Amino acid sequence: MTKPKTKKRPAAKAAGPKRSGAKTKRRSAGPPATIYSPDEIGEMFRRFSIQRPEPKGELEHVNAFTLLVAVVLSAQATDIGVNRATRALFEVADTPQKMAALGEERVGEYIRTIGLWRNKAKNVIALSQALIAEHDSEVPDDRDALTKLPGVGRKTANVVLNMAFGQPTMAVDTHIFRIGNRLGLAPGKTPEQVEATLVRVIPEHYLRHAHHWLILHGRYVCKARKPDCEACVIADLCRWPEKSCNSPAPLVELQTP
Ligand code: SF4
Repeated sequence: MTKPKTKKRPAAKAAGPKRSGAKTKRRSAGPPATIYSPDEIGEMFRRFSIQRPEPKGELEHVNAFTLLVAVVLSAQATDIGVNRATRALFEVADTPQKMAALGEERVGEYIRTIGLWRNKAKNVIALSQALIAEHDSEVPDDRDALTKLPGVGRKTANVVLNMAFGQPTMAVDTHIFRIGNRLGLAPGKTPEQVEATLVRVIPEHYLRHAHHWLILHGRYVCKARKPDCEACVIADLCRWPEKSCNSPAPLVELQTP
């Protein structure tokens, strides 16, 4: 999963909160507001839910531990590239004990095709050892505990909490960050701002799957360089000034991701 480029200027005009230390004193504000009404947001997610009733992540895994490892490996890498490396790795090491026993060097041999593999191999071994020592070899279902593990940040923890434990978290990757800003759905200068707004404005009953719907929408339709607005089911609702289509694509369940 690739990291959002936080330096990119958001397309939406909503201003982000000023950093403390700014010369002019302003009242502290929360994350910038969405430009959509609750009804419009509900309608967007209703359509996404029809397109993909049971959306799945594309990182291959066999249990919560292998999901955690796959997400750690996916930083600045594609899911396809991670899957290619982890298929063989997870066949020999699908528990913290087996992974720790394999050792850093052997893990490195399996994941050598993934960027930053040396550091990632180190983290995979360290987090396996921490799970054994501090969590009875189980992946904790708690954000604070997860983010204390080596190589695990807030985004990784959110993915694991969502996919392994069904929690309504929002892991903001590069696609969600772009959509939040491009559409004005959740303008923000940081992934945390976008996350906070999305969690606040998406209807609760859609939150469980919203993370996957937005990632898949960003990966296959609302793409970075040339969004495929003609294939977009929310084209009529979208307020991006540069969209190339105003009519929504037919609303049917998709067979592909
Ligand atoms: S209309 Fe275009 S820009 Fe708007 S959400 Fe759809 S694909 Fe993205």
